[in-house]
Amino acid sequence: MQDQNATAKTVAVKSTAELTGETVETAQSEHAPRVAIMGWCDRAARIEGPHPALTHMNIQGLTCSRVSYLFPLSLRGITFLVSLYNPKAGESFTVQFRYSDGAKAFDITMNLAKSQLFDPERQEYVDLNAGTEAHGWYFVTTQVANDVLITKPDTLNAFLTSPTGEQLLGSFNFIHASLPPYSADQIAALRSDPLARRIIRVRYSCTECGAKLQTYAGLERNKALEDQGYCWFAELGEEFHCDCGKLSFALQYMRSGLHGVLSRSLTPDDQAAGDYIRLYETTKLEDDSRQFKALLDRNAPEEVLQDFLEAHPIFFSRFSASRLIPKPKILTKYVADFAILNQRKELQLIEIEKPGIRLLTKERQITADLQHAVTQVTDWIQEVNDHRTAVLSSLEIDLKEVAVVRGVVIAGKSPSDDEGARALRRTFSGEVDFYTYDDLLRDITEIIRRVANA
Ligand SMILES: [Zn+2]
Repeated sequence: MQDQNATAKTVAVKSTAELTGETVETAQSEHAPRVAIMGWCDRAARIEGPHPALTHMNIQGLTCSRVSYLFPLSLRGITFLVSLYNPKAGESFTVQFRYSDGAKAFDITMNLAKSQLFDPERQEYVDLNAGTEAHGWYFVTTQVANDVLITKPDTLNAFLTSPTGEQLLGSFNFIHASLPPYSADQIAALRSDPLARRIIRVRYSCTECGAKLQTYAGLERNKALEDQGYCWFAELGEEFHCDCGKLSFALQYMRSGLHGVLSRSLTPDDQAAGDYIRLYETTKLEDDSRQFKALLDRNAPEEVLQDFLEAHPIFFSRFSASRLIPKPKILTKYVADFAILNQRKELQLIEIEKPGIRLLTKERQITADLQHAVTQVTDWIQEVNDHRTAVLSSLEIDLKEVAVVRGVVIAGKSPSDDEGARALRRTFSGEVDFYTYDDLLRDITEIIRRVANA
C-alpha cells in the first residue's frame, strides 16, 4: 500500500503579479491532504435510479456552519460529506476536530471496507481493489452514530492525523442562537402552529459516573416533569460538573436558548437536539373542531367567538403568526378583534363578524352589514398608517417589524354557488382579505391530516 506522502503531488502554481507585470512562479511544497471534509448536511440519501448509472447521492443543506439554540449540542445523526483521493480498500483515515483553544472535541475515523465505482462497460458497480489505476476524488458520506457533544459555540479546526504528522483540513462553525423569553402574544402565535412543541426536554449524563443534568423548556411550567428532576431552563445555574470530572459544560447557552427549540424556526438544525412533546394531538383538534362547528351552527355572538378563538389560536394557523394579539388597541379610537404579525412583516388587523351574517344580496352585491365590516377594517388600516409609530409602540411592536398593514374580515358561511364565491372574490382584492368560517373549519380538517401524518 502506498503511503500518504507518496501519492501527494507537488503543485506548481503560475501566477501573474499584477502590479509589476512580472510573471512569477511559486512552487507549493506543501502536500495536499488526501481527505477533504466538504461539510455536513441535513440529509444525504442514496437514490436508486431506473438504471444503475442513474443511482446518485442526494445531498441537502450542505454547510460548514451549524446554528443551535442549545449547547452542549449532540452530533448524533449528523452526516458529513467527505472526499477521498484515490482511496483503497482497507485504508483508514482519522480526522480530529479541535476547539479554538486546541482541546480535542472529537475524532472521526473512516475505515474503508470497500470502494466501488460504476463501470460503464459492464454497466454495474465494481469493487476498487488495491492496484487498480488511480481514479481521483471519491465522495462518501459518514454519519455520526453516537452522542458526540459539542459543549460550546466555537470554531473548530479539523486535522487529518497520521503517524507521520497532521494536516489542517478546514474550520467549522458552531453558532449559538439566543432569544429573550417569549411574550404572551408570541406564545399565542406559537400555539397557532399545528406542529407546535409544548415541551422540549434534554438530558445529559456522564458515561463514567452517571451524574446527569435534566432540563426542559415549555410553553408553560410543568410540575410533573419537575417532580421527575427536570429543571426549568431559565433557572439553571452557571455550570454543570459531573462527580468524576469527565463531563462539564457551561449552562448559559441553554438558559438563553433552549426555549427557542419550541418555535421550529431554526429546524431542521435542532431536530435531533432533544426530546419534544407536541402541543396538538388529532383527538384534541377534532374535539376543538366539533366545538367550533357547534358555535357556528347556533350563530354564537361575536364575544363568544372572540373568547373561543383566543383560547384556540390554532384556528389562525393560516396566518403564520409570529405574534398574535387579542383585542389590540389602535390608539384611543378603535379596538380590533385580533392583530397578527407574521414573518413576512405584515401586520394584519382582524375583524370577526357573526357566523350567520348575510354576505350577499339577491343581486349578488355585498350586503350593508358586510360593507360595514369592511369599512371598519379600512378605517383601522388608515389609522395605523397615519400614526404608525404611536400605534406600534403601544402594541410593543418594533417599527422595523412591520412593512405593510392589511385587514382581514372573517364572517358568515361560504356561498353555495360559484357565482356568489366569484362576487365575493371581486369585492376583496385590495388591502382587505376575506374568509368565511367555513374556510377556518376547512383549515382545521387539513391541520388534523398534517398532525396525523407528522
Ligand atoms: Zn462523571
